[in-house]
Amino acid sequence: MYLEELSINNFRNYSEAKLTFSPATNILIGKNAQGKTNLLEAIYVLAMTRSHRTNNDHELLRFKTNSATIRGTLINQLGKTKLGIDLSNKGKKARVNQLEQAKLSQYIGKMNVILFAPEDLSLVKGSPAVRRRFIDMEFGQIDANYLYNLSQYKAVLKQRNRYLKQLQQKKVTDLLLLDVFSDQLAAFGAEIIIRRLGFLTKLGKFAAKLQLQITNQQESLKLRYDSTINLEDQKMIKTDWIYKKLKEQYRQQQKKEIFQGTTLSGPHRDDLAFLINEKNVQLYGSQGQQRTAALSVKLAEVDLMHQETGEYPILLLDDVLSELDGARQTSLIKSIQNRVQTFLTTPSLNDVARQLIKDPKVFIINQGK
Ligand code: ATP
Ligand code: MG
Repeated sequence: MYLEELSINNFRNYSEAKLTFSPATNILIGKNAQGKTNLLEAIYVLAMTRSHRTNNDHELLRFKTNSATIRGTLINQLGKTKLGIDLSNKGKKARVNQLEQAKLSQYIGKMNVILFAPEDLSLVKGSPAVRRRFIDMEFGQIDANYLYNLSQYKAVLKQRNRYLKQLQQKKVTDLLLLDVFSDQLAAFGAEIIIRRLGFLTKLGKFAAKLQLQITNQQESLKLRYDSTINLEDQKMIKTDWIYKKLKEQYRQQQKKEIFQGTTLSGPHRDDLAFLINEKNVQLYGSQGQQRTAALSVKLAEVDLMHQETGEYPILLLDDVLSELDGARQTSLIKSIQNRVQTFLTTPSLNDVARQLIKDPKVFIINQGK
């Protein structure tokens, strides 16, 4: 798929912009603080209904304005689709061919994007919450059922935690109701974990291949899902088995959970480990290894999404070239060239990139214009 056109109004430092893109490589060049990342962000919001760098939509509205719009024309195997996001102080709306969508979760997945930004190093170095968010955002784009189970899980988790607090403060005493919440939570939790395991196995294969390519066959990369339930000796994991395991944990930890007033196991506490040559790269990896691992995993999603949906996603690369040495730049550009629509931001284009990238469309960005 590719984005043919984009119009934005009052988004970040843009008052008004209308752009037509190449289905291959688009390069956004500009000095610092001109609006390169803002433009990628607008494309990301159009796909995901939310920003990759803030949870607060208000920050996206141009200073001293109350609303912003993003409109895009997407071309995929089905044809042409007009997508739109309206942002305002009162909330946001998503539109498909002008029609307002009842649920944002139904809108997400129409346009698929993969973004790689300098802060994605936190995928390896950051807290488990960063990696869970990564899993949720990326798998949610591929699998609407995953998103549904996730939103149900979060709703039940909130209720259960509230109830555990009430038990802790002795405002209620009924443990049967806690069981009801545990049962629901285990059911949604098991669906989430089984889907995460399935996707991670597939993603891991693609990522390992890319890591070997980029490091000239030096580094083998593995992804390992670390769960609050022990998955290690299990060969064929089934949803029902996970469900039973989660319920067992809730029973065993009941006293502890009431004492702490919160739910201690389930997918909201799970994590993902990156192993390079069998060693955890978060603990033992160099800066360069960590960066390459994060990049391999992000690029692997391009292949995963293609495999799962039959469409290639749109690739957004924010300032990624300036972080890589010549050899890695070359293998990066080779691995994306002519396959996916790519948006690449950079303060200046170096010689390697200039020679490698074929017929790019170049946009010079200056003060939001
Ligand atoms: P760099 O090369 O440093 O990454 P960039 O071109 O990617 O620069 P952006 O992150 O796109 O820069 O930001 C450009 C400018 O947008 C900043 O100067 C910032 O102050 C401004 N800006 C951010 N949010 C808003 C907003 N809501 N309204 C108006 N301007 C904003
Ligand atoms: Mg930037």
